[in-house]
Amino acid sequence: MTSRTAIVLFSGGQDSTTCLAWALDRYERVETIGFDYGQKHKVELECRRTVRERILNDFPQWAPRLGEDHVLNIDVLGKISETALTGDAEIALQADGMPNTFVPGRNLLFLTLAAAVAYRRGCTVLVGGMCETDYSGYPDCRDNTMKAMQVALSLGMATTLVIETPLMWIDKAETWRFAARLGGEKLVKVIQEDTHTCYRGDRQHFHEWGSGCGTCPACELRAAGYRNWQKGM
Ligand code: ZN
Repeated sequence: MTSRTAIVLFSGGQDSTTCLAWALDRYERVETIGFDYGQKHKVELECRRTVRERILNDFPQWAPRLGEDHVLNIDVLGKISETALTGDAEIALQADGMPNTFVPGRNLLFLTLAAAVAYRRGCTVLVGGMCETDYSGYPDCRDNTMKAMQVALSLGMATTLVIETPLMWIDKAETWRFAARLGGEKLVKVIQEDTHTCYRGDRQHFHEWGSGCGTCPACELRAAGYRNWQKGM
């Protein structure tokens, strides 16, 4: 346990919920930050409220540490980037090999805004669910990108800011296992029922791994991870 205060980049998805649990286990005070940027899967913004409520109600060891929630509106990100996450396009691979769900600069912007809030709130740690293991190839999820951002933000704000990425080197099956270790069956249930991953914003279809269309890249990753975890892989 450390007395440092952390801000978790919390989208309401599986990864950021696992990161939130990790942070609550480790830091005395944990705040959350989320972004409304015109994402099609806006339902995740409601999920993040539900997940926070369940943590407050069902996890007495963590509830006293869970601090304020910050939701920032950054419509401008949707306006300057035409992607399958913010526009009408179907999800596909682009000619450069990058999925068209890639929102250029998204994580860089998120981290910069989170750092600005952290500065004002006296927080010295940012926690994010970025992962290089089975990600969609987004360059702004890379470990070196995170390290460069940590240095740039620390220098630019004349402070010592640490960016923690507890999921960086684990795959989706290990992320499920990690959640079970942090918060037991109870946390796994919260992740199954109340976190959102599907790019299409589908909450109609429920599977053992959670709600979603089952066919978009985000659903496929999450479902495969769940099955591998169940198989003990
Ligand atoms: Zn989906």
